[in-house]
Amino acid sequence: MVRSSRSSGRRRVGSWLLALPALGLAAAALLLAQGSPVEAIASPRTSVRIPPAPVAATQVPESGVSRELQVHRGSTLASLLNQAGAAPDTAHEMIGALRHVFDPRELRPGQVLEVAFRDAKGSSRLSELRFTPSLEREIRVRRGAQGSFEAEETLRPLETRLAGIRGSIESSLFRAGRGAGATAAALTEMIHAFSFSVDFQRDIRRGDRFELLYEELYDEQGRLARTGRLLFASLTLSGRRIEHWRHELADGRHDNFDASGASVRKTLMRTPIDGARLSSGYGRRRHPVLGYSKMHRGVDFAAPIGTPIYAAGDGVIERIGPFSTFGNYIRIRHNASYQTAYAHMRGFASNLRRGSRVHQGQVIGYLGRTGRVSGPHLHYEVHLSGRQVNPRTVQLPSGETLLGEELERFQAARRRINRLRGRTMFSRWVSRTPPLAEPSSAG
Ligand SMILES: [Zn+2]
Repeated sequence: MVRSSRSSGRRRVGSWLLALPALGLAAAALLLAQGSPVEAIASPRTSVRIPPAPVAATQVPESGVSRELQVHRGSTLASLLNQAGAAPDTAHEMIGALRHVFDPRELRPGQVLEVAFRDAKGSSRLSELRFTPSLEREIRVRRGAQGSFEAEETLRPLETRLAGIRGSIESSLFRAGRGAGATAAALTEMIHAFSFSVDFQRDIRRGDRFELLYEELYDEQGRLARTGRLLFASLTLSGRRIEHWRHELADGRHDNFDASGASVRKTLMRTPIDGARLSSGYGRRRHPVLGYSKMHRGVDFAAPIGTPIYAAGDGVIERIGPFSTFGNYIRIRHNASYQTAYAHMRGFASNLRRGSRVHQGQVIGYLGRTGRVSGPHLHYEVHLSGRQVNPRTVQLPSGETLLGEELERFQAARRRINRLRGRTMFSRWVSRTPPLAEPSSAG
């Protein structure tokens, strides 16, 4: 069989002007539906909202039918097209053309595809496929003049602006930050970055101050498309100031560092779950189920069932599965000295098994109420040399510290970020400054 995908694979940059006006809305609506970090800004000063547009009606070439297909876990593009009614060899031909601009294996569950069929004497004939894998990118495959499929990728560059936000905390950093106009994605990243050094349940007091500087990416209509990099964040807690600067290392990794160039990342997180309330501390207590006094060798966090639980550090899964009164249980070995354990989970993240390597912050399971419990919670333990220790007070080894040339590059980046901060005095401020030049790419 002759593969007739004479796909041009043209890459058009900035050709969004040619895109249908409805496309941006459709893309935004699709991304919103997938829970991506597209969001509206709610600020006391500005109010830019992406309207909750319905998925725009699909554009059908000539007369015919179009429909939307949703990618599910385990489904392939070929199976989706076949289910939609495409003949197998037509689907095969289309996928061959698509490969010139997009690897179909990169389709993610939840992605919506638009397919069009042209009616050819009563039998439907697949004529077009189109989808937006990200807000900046549209993929379209359709029949060209010669009758074979041609694939086209349209890139719509987003404009980067810097947002500098300062404020004081009434109840929580997240609420205060949202109130001052910061995006949820920027605040979530900030909370993650501080979770190694700050105990968000005990350390935050009314009147504590915060500051962050991050990138916002806007589409051609001036709508906030997504949140970019968090460049700087600081918290002043009861007078103690903690500051982080983002730095991209020569090897491509990035991390947050304090003014001396020490990574703020510790080998283990003290709280491997977001937004949870500490419901029971480490130590002797009256057991809620058994009734008598018993040593509690971990800490308990209360949160809604299904809340994601993170690996507290990089490591290898040593034990996973039901384990006595612990219910669904995972234990991770981080190094020769440290292990962490997580109990009473509702279930585990898929693809994890004994021996799986996990990274810090990776979702390993979901909060539940399995095992001997009186209510849903995460029971979290840190083991040092095989013995449980108090996760809230144990001395944790710190991450890397920059030295030599890398330290110099970081200090240059820090000065550049500080100059930008100097221009973001008071409340929310958005500039049209081009994105920060990365020292690594500048040589
Ligand atoms: Zn417990």
